[in-house]
Amino acid sequence: MANIIVMMGPQGAGKGTQAQMLADKLGLPIIATGDILRDVARGDSELGNLVREILASGQLVPDEILARVVSECTCEPRCGGGYILDGFPRTPPQARQLEQIAQSQGHRILVVKISVPTELLYKRLAGRRTCTHCNAIYNIYFKPPAQPGVCDLDGHALFTRSDDNEESIAKRLELYEEKTRPLLDYYDESGRLHVVDGTGSPEEVHARILEVTRRASVGEADVKRGGE
Ligand code: AMP
Repeated sequence: MANIIVMMGPQGAGKGTQAQMLADKLGLPIIATGDILRDVARGDSELGNLVREILASGQLVPDEILARVVSECTCEPRCGGGYILDGFPRTPPQARQLEQIAQSQGHRILVVKISVPTELLYKRLAGRRTCTHCNAIYNIYFKPPAQPGVCDLDGHALFTRSDDNEESIAKRLELYEEKTRPLLDYYDESGRLHVVDGTGSPEEVHARILEVTRRASVGEADVKRGGE
């Protein structure tokens, strides 16, 4: 049985980096609903126009559209050996849709939540500086440029994203917790939630996530053997 690995974690937890490392290691595709919807929004169809408007407003795209998009993408042959979901599910109805998708594909759902202490998330987000020219990313706490405010690579000025100030970070993190809590509880109750320590280097976190996926697969083999 193949895995649908659902990556969860707040902004700054390293979800994107970890999804990519895991995809490279396991040879699985990443289905990132934000990217897919941005693609849909570029199309000149009725659906494209609708999604474009919703994305611009910052609201969530309706669950029915997500169900359609995710079922279509994940029944492609490249997803036959399992896949990694980034950005889905985001609501309880979407979690129920995913149950149906998983069941029809014969896949098992495994949820990985990357957990990082709030103070560290603040430092990762508030400390982030981006080059105005080449988009290289620095962090004043963890990866400072040689000269403050100046890109090492091309000498252009660095800037702070407008939503990376303390007040807005606090709001985004609170909103994330509030929105995902019911989903985490739901997966926890069915024993499919795996909380991984997100502190340390990307390689260390990656090793922990791999261990979780390995243990889940071993667990399944044990169950099969027990049933034989
Ligand atoms: P992201 O790149 O994951 O931050 O998503 C960007 C935007 O795409 C979000 O602000 C939503 O409007 C939309 N989106 C992505 N995933 C979902 C989802 N699972 N449910 C509803 N809307 C979504």
